[in-house]
Amino acid sequence: MKVIITGGASGIGLATATLLAGQGAQVACLDLEPGVPAPLVGVKADVADDESVRAAVESAAERLGGLDVLVNNAGIGAAGTVEDNPDDEWRRVFEVNVFGIVRTTRAALPYLRRSARAAIVNTCSVAAVVGLPDRALYSSSKGAVLALTRAMATDLLADGVRVNCVNPGTVDTPWVGRLLDAAADPAAERVALAARQPTGRLVTADEVAAAIAYLASPAAGAVTGTSLAVDGGMHDLRPRR
Ligand code: NAD
Repeated sequence: MKVIITGGASGIGLATATLLAGQGAQVACLDLEPGVPAPLVGVKADVADDESVRAAVESAAERLGGLDVLVNNAGIGAAGTVEDNPDDEWRRVFEVNVFGIVRTTRAALPYLRRSARAAIVNTCSVAAVVGLPDRALYSSSKGAVLALTRAMATDLLADGVRVNCVNPGTVDTPWVGRLLDAAADPAAERVALAARQPTGRLVTADEVAAAIAYLASPAAGAVTGTSLAVDGGMHDLRPRR
């Protein structure tokens, strides 16, 4: 299996790349900072820049000798209510979280269409489906990812390209490490984030990677247009505390 993962040099992307490579896949990690350990192939790319994405996808597909799976995982966070961010910040986040998926998918599809087992997996978020405080911009970008996943899945039925997404809860990655570092009381913030999840703990990057690997595999041959929650029950469960 030949795989491209955007944002593949950290967190969920790196965990997915490592898992798939361990299963025998050839994996290219497209990232702003593409330092990844062998046998992973690092390719520099900025998903906010169309030229960069086209060059990186072409280079990766050539080095891998084709492409079966695209994992659109690169993303950035943003805090604030609908009033808190200027237009430029809204544009910056959508450039990466939404238009990044558009650009990378557009560049990858000519290669994916030649695969007999083509699949796209997008990293969405529980923020697409529940109302979280202070996350208007981030949540709306992930809501767009969910809608885009379903729209692309429909359009690509005829090409045999399956398209799905994962909706992680709060995942223990360098991203959340940065969030905690910025909090007034990092230890209390970590406890609060863990308590928000019905399982009482953060999700691990490996647990999200396993879900992405499933959706990318032929075992999910009948699965398209769906979102798989990997959120410790955050979306569906209402336990009494
Ligand atoms: P992370 O910060 O550990 O990794 C993100 C990677 O994306 C980094 O290597 C970064 O360099 C890369 N990246 C950022 N902007 C890029 C760009 N313009 N072009 C190319 N690469 C770029 O974060 P993570 O927690 O692993 O998050 C990965 C995805 O998971 C994101 O889409 C995020 O929205 C989503 N997600 C994360 C959480 C969480 O709690 N960590 C929860 C739900 C969804």
